[in-house]
Amino acid sequence: MTRTHLLEVEGHRPWCLRCRRPGAVCLCSEITSLRVRTKFVFLMHPKEDKKIKNGTGRIAHLALDRSELLVGLDFREHPRVVELLADPAYDCRVLYPAPEGEGEEASESSRPPGRTPVLFVIDGTWPCAKKMMKLSTNLHGLPRHSLDVDRPSEFKTKHQPDPACLATIEAVDRTLHGLAARGLEVYGAQESERLLAPFHRMVALGIAHAADPGPGSYRRSGPFPTGEERRKGRTSTASGRNVMFRGG
Ligand SMILES: [Zn+2]
Repeated sequence: MTRTHLLEVEGHRPWCLRCRRPGAVCLCSEITSLRVRTKFVFLMHPKEDKKIKNGTGRIAHLALDRSELLVGLDFREHPRVVELLADPAYDCRVLYPAPEGEGEEASESSRPPGRTPVLFVIDGTWPCAKKMMKLSTNLHGLPRHSLDVDRPSEFKTKHQPDPACLATIEAVDRTLHGLAARGLEVYGAQESERLLAPFHRMVALGIAHAADPGPGSYRRSGPFPTGEERRKGRTSTASGRNVMFRGG
């Protein structure tokens, strides 16, 4: 744990201000800095920003050099998004399912040389992501990068509503593998292991705490849906299952 990020207030449990998790389950020691060619810009739903224990977008942001995290719902007039879209130094795309036949591979030939690739990642549960995309009309014209979900999520701590659901950090990892396969990124097994280390730790902590439902158990507000949440069909919100991607 990085002590400098730990907030200790009498009467409250210690809190990590960096990964925004309780000190006892802080993931900072597992997060290592990764430099990749793509500049990731996480557009985070406000609900995702408040999620304290199982959001993976922030973890991915902390690991990826030069990445940015912007919280909001409608990014039409978000100053930083507007600035990135207008800057000719950047080639902006969005990680979002593309209509049939219009995936990344189809648009690859249009990749302009000499510009920094920017990938906007919509970070929210699938219904939230759809709403964010609908409102953020300035992202509609961007080439879309979509993922083929060839294997299920490693988020083993809960039932998946759809096998195509991935945690945000997994979606980033698979995107980087895909770009590397096309010679557009330098990213291999070692980098992947480093990026996913805090995620694997998060899953392990979730399993360990679920097995020990004592006072203050992780389970009560952790990655497992409560009975009430299950009844309301809110499992995807409770799970940290952030974005659903399907190959286009
Ligand atoms: Zn931390």
